[in-house]
Amino acid sequence: MIAHNISNIQSQLPSDVLLIAVSKTKPIPDIEEAYDEGVRDFGENKVQELTEKHEALPKDISWHFIGHLQRNKVKYIAPFVSLIHAVDSFKLLSTIEKEAAKHNRTIKCLLQFHIAKEDSKFGLAYEDAVELIEKYTDANMQHVAICGVMGMATYTDNTEQVRSEFATLRSYFDRLKKDYFETQNNFKHISMGMSQDFPIAIQEGSTMIRIGSTIFGERNYS
Ligand SMILES: *Cc1c(COP(=O)(O)O)cnc(C)c1O
Repeated sequence: MIAHNISNIQSQLPSDVLLIAVSKTKPIPDIEEAYDEGVRDFGENKVQELTEKHEALPKDISWHFIGHLQRNKVKYIAPFVSLIHAVDSFKLLSTIEKEAAKHNRTIKCLLQFHIAKEDSKFGLAYEDAVELIEKYTDANMQHVAICGVMGMATYTDNTEQVRSEFATLRSYFDRLKKDYFETQNNFKHISMGMSQDFPIAIQEGSTMIRIGSTIFGERNYS
Protein backbone atom coordinates (compact mmCIF):
# COMPACT_ATOMS: atom_id res chain seq x y z
CA MET A 1 0.00 0.00 0.00
CA ILE A 2 2.77 2.45 0.93
CA ALA A 3 4.62 1.76 -2.32
CA HIS A 4 1.43 2.25 -4.28
CA ASN A 5 0.67 5.54 -2.53
CA ILE A 6 4.16 6.84 -3.22
CA SER A 7 4.12 6.06 -6.92
CA ASN A 8 0.68 7.60 -7.15
CA ILE A 9 1.94 10.87 -5.65
CA GLN A 10 5.21 10.80 -7.63
CA SER A 11 3.22 10.54 -10.86
CA GLN A 12 1.56 13.89 -10.06
CA LEU A 13 4.81 15.69 -9.21
CA PRO A 14 6.77 17.91 -11.57
CA SER A 15 10.40 16.77 -11.59
CA ASP A 16 11.56 19.87 -9.68
CA VAL A 17 9.28 19.27 -6.68
CA LEU A 18 10.75 17.13 -3.89
CA LEU A 19 8.56 14.67 -2.03
CA ILE A 20 9.27 14.52 1.70
CA ALA A 21 7.64 11.49 3.31
CA VAL A 22 6.44 12.54 6.77
CA SER A 23 6.99 9.44 8.88
CA LYS A 24 6.19 10.84 12.35
CA THR A 25 4.55 8.25 14.63
CA LYS A 26 5.12 5.53 11.99
CA PRO A 27 7.25 2.43 12.66
CA ILE A 28 10.58 1.56 11.04
CA PRO A 29 9.16 -1.12 8.68
CA ASP A 30 6.84 1.49 7.13
CA ILE A 31 9.81 3.77 6.50
CA GLU A 32 11.78 0.88 5.01
CA GLU A 33 8.95 0.22 2.61
CA ALA A 34 9.05 3.83 1.43
CA TYR A 35 12.86 3.65 1.24
CA ASP A 36 12.64 0.57 -0.97
CA GLU A 37 10.36 2.58 -3.25
CA GLY A 38 13.21 5.08 -3.71
CA VAL A 39 12.27 7.75 -1.16
CA ARG A 40 15.34 9.29 0.52
CA ASP A 41 13.78 12.33 2.19
CA PHE A 42 11.83 11.83 5.41
CA GLY A 43 10.27 14.34 7.79
CA GLU A 44 9.87 14.08 11.56
CA ASN A 45 8.66 16.55 14.19
CA LYS A 46 9.96 15.07 17.46
CA VAL A 47 13.67 15.16 18.30
CA GLN A 48 13.87 11.86 20.14
CA GLU A 49 11.88 9.97 17.52
CA LEU A 50 14.06 11.46 14.79
CA THR A 51 17.34 10.51 16.46
CA GLU A 52 16.13 6.94 17.07
CA LYS A 53 15.04 6.52 13.47
CA HIS A 54 18.28 8.04 12.19
CA GLU A 55 20.21 5.46 14.24
CA ALA A 56 18.18 2.55 12.94
CA LEU A 57 17.93 3.39 9.25
CA PRO A 58 20.29 3.70 6.24
CA LYS A 59 22.65 6.65 6.36
CA ASP A 60 21.85 7.93 2.89
CA ILE A 61 18.49 9.22 4.14
CA SER A 62 18.08 13.00 4.29
CA TRP A 63 16.22 13.85 7.49
CA HIS A 64 13.98 16.91 7.60
CA PHE A 65 12.97 18.39 10.91
CA ILE A 66 9.53 19.84 10.25
CA GLY A 67 8.16 20.69 13.70
CA HIS A 68 8.65 23.29 16.38
CA LEU A 69 12.24 22.89 17.59
CA GLN A 70 13.23 23.65 21.18
CA ARG A 71 16.64 25.26 21.49
CA ASN A 72 17.88 22.83 24.15
CA LYS A 73 17.30 19.92 21.76
CA VAL A 74 19.15 21.24 18.72
CA LYS A 75 22.32 19.45 19.85
CA TYR A 76 20.77 16.02 19.36
CA ILE A 77 20.01 16.52 15.67
CA ALA A 78 22.87 18.86 14.72
CA PRO A 79 25.25 16.00 13.76
CA PHE A 80 23.06 14.72 10.94
CA VAL A 81 19.91 16.73 10.18
CA SER A 82 19.61 17.74 6.54
CA LEU A 83 17.11 20.61 6.62
CA ILE A 84 15.33 22.36 9.49
CA HIS A 85 12.03 23.65 8.12
CA ALA A 86 10.63 25.69 10.94
CA VAL A 87 13.02 28.38 12.14
CA ASP A 88 10.99 31.22 13.57
CA SER A 89 13.38 33.12 15.82
CA PHE A 90 16.89 34.53 15.70
CA LYS A 91 17.63 32.82 19.02
CA LEU A 92 16.87 29.41 17.52
CA LEU A 93 18.99 30.22 14.47
CA SER A 94 21.91 31.23 16.74
CA THR A 95 21.65 27.95 18.65
CA ILE A 96 21.69 25.99 15.40
CA GLU A 97 24.78 27.98 14.32
CA LYS A 98 26.56 27.12 17.58
CA GLU A 99 25.70 23.41 17.49
CA ALA A 100 26.48 23.02 13.78
CA ALA A 101 29.90 24.60 14.32
CA LYS A 102 30.76 21.85 16.81
CA HIS A 103 30.34 19.32 14.03
CA ASN A 104 31.96 21.40 11.32
CA ARG A 105 28.70 21.43 9.41
CA THR A 106 26.53 24.03 7.74
CA ILE A 107 22.89 23.25 8.47
CA LYS A 108 20.29 24.37 5.96
CA CYS A 109 17.25 26.10 7.42
CA LEU A 110 13.95 27.50 6.21
CA LEU A 111 12.07 30.38 7.80
CA GLN A 112 8.59 29.41 8.85
CA PHE A 113 5.89 31.99 8.11
CA HIS A 114 2.49 32.35 9.64
CA ILE A 115 0.19 32.29 6.62
CA ALA A 116 -2.91 30.55 8.01
CA LYS A 117 -5.92 32.30 9.48
CA GLU A 118 -5.51 30.17 12.60
CA ASP A 119 -3.59 31.45 15.57
CA SER A 120 -2.52 28.03 16.86
CA LYS A 121 0.21 27.79 14.25
CA PHE A 122 3.80 28.96 14.66
CA GLY A 123 5.63 31.21 12.29
CA LEU A 124 6.93 34.65 11.47
CA ALA A 125 5.20 37.70 10.09
CA TYR A 126 7.01 39.25 7.12
CA GLU A 127 8.49 42.15 9.12
CA ASP A 128 9.82 39.77 11.76
CA ALA A 129 11.54 37.75 9.07
CA VAL A 130 13.22 40.87 7.70
CA GLU A 131 14.51 41.70 11.17
CA LEU A 132 15.76 38.13 11.63
CA ILE A 133 17.54 38.15 8.25
CA GLU A 134 19.25 41.46 8.98
CA LYS A 135 20.62 40.08 12.24
CA TYR A 136 21.66 36.89 10.47
CA THR A 137 23.53 38.87 7.83
CA ASP A 138 25.25 41.07 10.43
CA ALA A 139 26.31 38.02 12.45
CA ASN A 140 27.99 36.54 9.35
CA MET A 141 26.98 33.02 10.32
CA GLN A 142 29.03 30.27 8.72
CA HIS A 143 27.26 27.18 9.99
CA VAL A 144 23.65 27.88 9.08
CA ALA A 145 22.32 28.73 5.66
CA ILE A 146 18.84 30.19 5.20
CA CYS A 147 17.65 28.38 2.07
CA GLY A 148 14.03 29.44 1.72
CA VAL A 149 10.63 29.55 3.34
CA MET A 150 8.03 27.19 4.80
CA GLY A 151 4.37 27.54 5.72
CA MET A 152 1.15 25.72 6.48
CA ALA A 153 -2.18 26.78 5.06
CA THR A 154 -5.39 26.83 7.07
CA TYR A 155 -7.01 23.42 7.43
CA THR A 156 -10.17 24.12 5.44
CA ASP A 157 -12.17 22.95 2.42
CA ASN A 158 -12.08 26.50 1.09
CA THR A 159 -9.57 25.99 -1.71
CA GLU A 160 -9.49 29.67 -2.68
CA GLN A 161 -8.38 30.57 0.82
CA VAL A 162 -5.68 27.88 0.77
CA ARG A 163 -4.53 29.06 -2.64
CA SER A 164 -4.28 32.65 -1.49
CA GLU A 165 -2.26 31.67 1.60
CA PHE A 166 0.20 29.70 -0.55
CA ALA A 167 0.40 32.63 -2.98
CA THR A 168 1.26 34.88 -0.04
CA LEU A 169 4.12 32.60 0.98
CA ARG A 170 5.35 32.56 -2.61
CA SER A 171 5.30 36.36 -2.69
CA TYR A 172 7.30 36.50 0.56
CA PHE A 173 9.86 34.18 -0.98
CA ASP A 174 10.13 36.36 -4.10
CA ARG A 175 10.56 39.58 -2.11
CA LEU A 176 13.19 38.08 0.19
CA LYS A 177 15.05 36.60 -2.74
CA LYS A 178 15.17 39.97 -4.45
CA ASP A 179 16.03 42.04 -1.38
CA TYR A 180 18.43 39.75 0.51
CA PHE A 181 19.36 36.56 -1.35
CA GLU A 182 19.68 37.59 -5.00
CA THR A 183 23.20 36.19 -5.28
CA GLN A 184 22.65 33.11 -3.09
CA ASN A 185 21.82 30.14 -5.25
CA ASN A 186 20.87 28.00 -2.27
CA PHE A 187 17.98 30.31 -1.36
CA LYS A 188 15.55 28.36 -3.52
CA HIS A 189 13.11 26.36 -1.41
CA ILE A 190 9.42 26.90 -0.81
CA SER A 191 8.24 24.13 1.50
CA MET A 192 4.45 24.06 1.27
CA GLY A 193 1.75 21.46 0.70
CA MET A 194 0.55 18.53 2.82
CA SER A 195 -1.75 15.58 2.10
CA GLN A 196 -4.89 17.59 1.74
CA ASP A 197 -3.59 20.59 -0.18
CA PHE A 198 -0.41 19.65 -2.08
CA PRO A 199 -1.85 19.94 -5.63
CA ILE A 200 -2.72 23.59 -4.92
CA ALA A 201 0.70 24.18 -3.32
CA ILE A 202 2.40 22.88 -6.45
CA GLN A 203 0.35 25.18 -8.66
CA GLU A 204 1.42 28.09 -6.44
CA GLY A 205 5.13 27.32 -6.71
CA SER A 206 6.02 24.78 -4.02
CA THR A 207 9.42 23.12 -4.37
CA MET A 208 8.95 20.61 -1.51
CA ILE A 209 5.79 18.94 -0.34
CA ARG A 210 5.52 17.25 3.07
CA ILE A 211 3.20 14.25 2.85
CA GLY A 212 2.30 11.97 5.75
CA SER A 213 -1.14 10.37 5.87
CA THR A 214 -1.56 9.98 2.11
CA ILE A 215 1.55 7.78 2.11
CA PHE A 216 1.45 5.98 5.46
CA GLY A 217 -2.25 6.17 6.39
CA GLU A 218 -3.87 8.08 9.20
CA ARG A 219 -1.83 8.58 12.36
CA ASN A 220 -2.96 7.21 15.71
CA TYR A 221 -1.97 9.41 18.60
CA SER A 222 -2.39 7.45 21.77
C1 LIG B 1 2.36 16.14 10.09
C2 LIG B 1 2.89 17.21 9.21
C3 LIG B 1 2.82 17.11 7.80
C4 LIG B 1 2.14 15.95 7.08
O1 LIG B 1 0.75 16.02 7.26
P1 LIG B 1 -0.26 15.08 6.42
O2 LIG B 1 -1.53 15.84 6.46
O3 LIG B 1 -0.32 13.79 7.15
O4 LIG B 1 0.29 14.94 5.05
C5 LIG B 1 3.38 18.12 7.05
N1 LIG B 1 3.98 19.19 7.62
C6 LIG B 1 4.06 19.33 8.95
C7 LIG B 1 4.73 20.53 9.51
C8 LIG B 1 3.51 18.36 9.78
O5 LIG B 1 3.60 18.52 11.11
